[in-house]
Amino acid sequence: MKYHSTRNSKIKINFKDAVLQGIAKDGGLYVPEYFPQVDIKKLSKLSYTDLAFNILNMYLNDYTSEQLQNIINKAYRDEFPENPAPLTKAGDYHYLELYHGRTHAFKDFALSILPLFMEEAIKDKNIKEKILILTATSGDTGSAALYGFKDLENIDIAVLFPENGVSLIQKLQMTTISSSNTIVIGINGNFDDAQKSVKDIFTNKEILDNIKRKNYILSSANSINIGRLLPQIIYYFHAYNQLLKNKIIELGEKVSFVVPTGNFGDILAGYYAKNMGLPVEKLIVASNENKVLTEFFNSGIYDANRELHITNSPSMDIIISSNLERLLYHKTEDTEIVNNLQNNLFLNKKYEFEDKFDEFYASFCNQEDTLSEIKNVFEKYKYLIDPHTAVAKKVADEYKLKFRPKETIVILSTASPFKFADIIMDQFEDIERNGFILEDLKIFEEQTNIKVPLDLLDLKNKTIKHKKFINVEDILDTLMEFIGERNES
Ligand SMILES: *Cc1c(COP(=O)(O)O)cnc(C)c1O
Repeated sequence: MKYHSTRNSKIKINFKDAVLQGIAKDGGLYVPEYFPQVDIKKLSKLSYTDLAFNILNMYLNDYTSEQLQNIINKAYRDEFPENPAPLTKAGDYHYLELYHGRTHAFKDFALSILPLFMEEAIKDKNIKEKILILTATSGDTGSAALYGFKDLENIDIAVLFPENGVSLIQKLQMTTISSSNTIVIGINGNFDDAQKSVKDIFTNKEILDNIKRKNYILSSANSINIGRLLPQIIYYFHAYNQLLKNKIIELGEKVSFVVPTGNFGDILAGYYAKNMGLPVEKLIVASNENKVLTEFFNSGIYDANRELHITNSPSMDIIISSNLERLLYHKTEDTEIVNNLQNNLFLNKKYEFEDKFDEFYASFCNQEDTLSEIKNVFEKYKYLIDPHTAVAKKVADEYKLKFRPKETIVILSTASPFKFADIIMDQFEDIERNGFILEDLKIFEEQTNIKVPLDLLDLKNKTIKHKKFINVEDILDTLMEFIGERNES
C-alpha cells in the first residue's frame, strides 16, 4: 500500500514517510491509493486488538507483523479497558462509547497509537533530527496528543489551543502536564486561526529549512495525519461486531452511524470502513451552530465566509474541515479538481462541488437543543451524554423522523460528559453546588452515583505548568524559542 497527496497522485510514498511528514509538501493530505477489501464474516468474531491488527495490517505493510502487533498491544491492551469501545443502548439508539481511554475522548484511539507508529518509523528511517509535533487543538486532540507523546526520547510536542474556546477541564488536562518535551500554548484566536498558522508553517520552505538547521523536523498529530485517520476505522467494525454478537443485526445487514463532526476526521474513517466492505446505510454528519458541513452536503456549496460561533460543543467549533479534502479526492479521484476547489477555498473562502453524496446525511443542532437533549436522555434513560454526543442525538432524531429508516442506528459518543462538567452539572438543577467545578464534581458524584473518572477529580490537586498566552503572530517565535531551549538542555 502506498500513499499520495490529495493534490498530486504521481508521487507515492510509504506509510512510514507519510506518518512522519503529517501533511504533504504541496499542502494536500495523504490518502491510501486504494481501499483494501475485507471479509466481514472473518472479522466478526475478533477482539478489538485482533481487529486492529487485521485492519491496520492492510494499510501499514511497511511494518513487520511483529512490529505492528507490539504497537497495537502497547496502545490498546495496556491503555484501555478490556472492551475499549463498548456499545450501550438508550432509547432508540446504540451509543458507541469512545471515551474510555486516557483523556476521555475518542481522540485517544488514534493518539495512543500514532506516537508508536512514529517512533518505529524514526528508528527504521534512521532519522538523525528530532521530531517536533506541532498540533492545533479544539480541546481534545491537545490532551490526547500530550499524553501520547510525553516523555518520548526523539519526539517533542507543541500544542496550540484557543484560550477562550475550550472547557476548563480540557484546559487543565493540557496545562497541568508535566514533561520537559512538551509546550502548551494558549492563543488569542480560535481553532481555525491555530490550524491555519500550523498549516502555514508546514508549507513554508524557509521556515522548515530554518527549523532543520536547528536539528528538528516538524510533524503533525492533527487529523490531517493519515496515522490519525486509519486507527479510527477499527471501531466502526467493532461496533458492527457487537451488534452482531448481541443479535441486534444479522451478518450483512446495514447500519447507520451518526457522528458529531468538526474536522471531518472521525466520520471520514467511517467512510473508509464503508468502502472496505462494512455494511453501512448512511453516515450522518452532525454539526453544531457552525453548520458549514450541513450546508455543504445539502447544497454542494462550501462557504467559509462566516463568523465562528463559540458553542457548548467546543470540539466542533470549526469552519475549515480539513479532512473534507480527502472525501473530495476519493469521490473524484482527480487531483486537478481537488486543487481547483482548495484554491477557491484559499482565495474566495468558498467552493461549489457538483457531485452528490448519497451515502451521507447532514444536519445540525443549536446550543439550546444540545442542552435539552442532555437533560432528556438522562431523565428518560438515566444515561448521561456529553454535549457533542447530544448534538448527534438530536440529528439522529431528525433523520428518523424524516426517513423512518429500518436500519439500526449507532451514535458515536465522542467524549466523557465530565470533560464538559460545567455544562452537564447545569442540567441538574436540584444538586447544590459551590461554584468550583472541580469540587462540584465530587458533590455531583456523591448525589447521582455516577462515577466521575478519577484523574478528572484529581485535576484539582495538580499545578499548572503551562501559562503561555500569545497572539497568533507570535506563534513561530515562541516555537523557535522552545526549540532553542530544547537544544540547550
Ligand atoms: C474532535 C471531536 C469531535 C469532532 O471530530 P472530527 O474528527 O474533528 O470531526 C467531536 N466530538 C469530540 C468530543 C471531539 O473531541
